[in-house]
Amino acid sequence: MNKKQIARNRADELENRIQDYLDVKDTIPRGMAPTQQGKSEEKKEKILAHLKGTEENWNDYRWQLKNRISDVDTLRKLISLDEEEVEAVRKVAAKYRWSISPYYLSLIDDDNRYDPIKLQSIPMVAELMKEGLADPMGEEYTNPAGAITRRYPDRVIINVTNQCAMYCRHCQRRRNIGSDDHHTSRKVLEESIEYIKAHPEIRDVLVTGGDALLLSDATLDWLLGELHATQSVDYVRLGSRVLVTMPQRITDKLVDILKKYPPLYINTQFNHPKELTREAKEACDKLVNAGIPLGNQAVLLNGINNDKHVMRLLNQELLKFRIRPYYIFHAKRVMGTTHFNTSVDEGIEIMEHLRGYTSGMAIPTYIINAPQGHGKTPIAPQYLISRGKNSIKIRTWEGKVFDYPNRPTPDIEGFF
Ligand code: SF4
Repeated sequence: MNKKQIARNRADELENRIQDYLDVKDTIPRGMAPTQQGKSEEKKEKILAHLKGTEENWNDYRWQLKNRISDVDTLRKLISLDEEEVEAVRKVAAKYRWSISPYYLSLIDDDNRYDPIKLQSIPMVAELMKEGLADPMGEEYTNPAGAITRRYPDRVIINVTNQCAMYCRHCQRRRNIGSDDHHTSRKVLEESIEYIKAHPEIRDVLVTGGDALLLSDATLDWLLGELHATQSVDYVRLGSRVLVTMPQRITDKLVDILKKYPPLYINTQFNHPKELTREAKEACDKLVNAGIPLGNQAVLLNGINNDKHVMRLLNQELLKFRIRPYYIFHAKRVMGTTHFNTSVDEGIEIMEHLRGYTSGMAIPTYIINAPQGHGKTPIAPQYLISRGKNSIKIRTWEGKVFDYPNRPTPDIEGFF
C-alpha cells in the first residue's frame, strides 16, 4: 500500500470515530440555532406583554433584575406547567428561594418538559429530598478574615454578595442564597483587602458571590481599583453567571470600568449549548474585545449535560464564543440539589470521549472538590498504565497501548 493510501485509510478510520457524534449533533438544542432563536423571540414578546415592558426595558439589566419572576402564578402564565409542576414550585418555595430573570425564562422551550433551561431554573419536588449536606466544603472553616475564603497557599476568594440574576436549582452554594439579597458591606470588604495586603504571598484574588457582577459599577470600580493597586496581587478573577442568565448586565459602562484593571479574567458557567445565545455572544464579544479573557466552569448535571455528545458540543460552541473551557466540576452532594448528581464514572466517560475526539482547547479539566475544602482534585481517564524505571506504558485516546522510554535527562557537561 502506498503512503497516500495508508493516509486515506487512516483518515476514513478517524472520520468513523466521530460518526455517532455527527449523527446526533444537530438534534442537540443550541441557543444559536434559528429555530431556537425564533422560539425565544416569541417567548420574549409574551413576557414583555405580560410585564408591560419595552424592547429598551428588556435590554436594561436593572429592569431584568427588578422584574425577576419569583411567584408561581406569574410563572404559569408565561411557560407551560402542569398542575403537578405548579404544586412542586409552591412546595419548594416554602423551603428554598427561586427567582428567574425574564431573559433566562425566555429561553425555556414549552415543548420539552425536561428542557435544560427549565431544569436549571424551575424548582422541582426532588429538591425536598433530605440527602446531602448544606456545606460539604466546610467553607465556614476557611474564612480567616472579612469575606475571605482561603483554601490554597497563594490565592483567596472574596465573597462580595449573595445576589444572583437567577437562583440556579443546582447551586452548590445554596446555603448562601438565604431569603434576601445583600451585598457584603464596605467595612467587611475593606477588612478583606487589609488581609490580602498583610499577606503578600497572595497573588491571585477571585471575587465572587453570589454573582460578582451584581455589585454596582461604583463598588466594582472601587474594589478592583484597590486590588489593582495592591502590588502583591498579580491578577484578579471575577466569578459571574450573568453572561448566561442576564447578559444585559455587560453594559459599555461596565466594560469601561473592567478594562481599567488588567490583567482581569472572568469565569462563568455555561452548562448547556442552549445557553449560548446571540445575546450571550454580544456580551462575550464586548468583554473579549476589551481584553478580558473568559473561562467556563461547567457543572456536570444529571439530565442537563451528563452526555458525551452534549458536553462535546458545549465545549466546541464555547470556543466559538471565545470562552475557554476551563473546568467541569463534579457536582457536590449539596442538600436540595442531589437529584442533579451523577456518578464519577459518568464524568470519566465524558472525558474519555473528549480527548482525541476534539481539540485540546475544547477539553476542560474534570474536577472533584475534595471534602471539607481540601482542594480541587483533577480526575481523568487512565492514560498512564504503568510506570517503570526505564519505561512507561501508555494508552492512547483510541485505546492503543505503547511502551514509551522513561530515560533520565542526559548529563551533557557544559551544554547549559
Ligand atoms: S449564579 Fe452561581 S452562585 Fe448564583 S445561584 Fe447560580 S450557581 Fe449559585
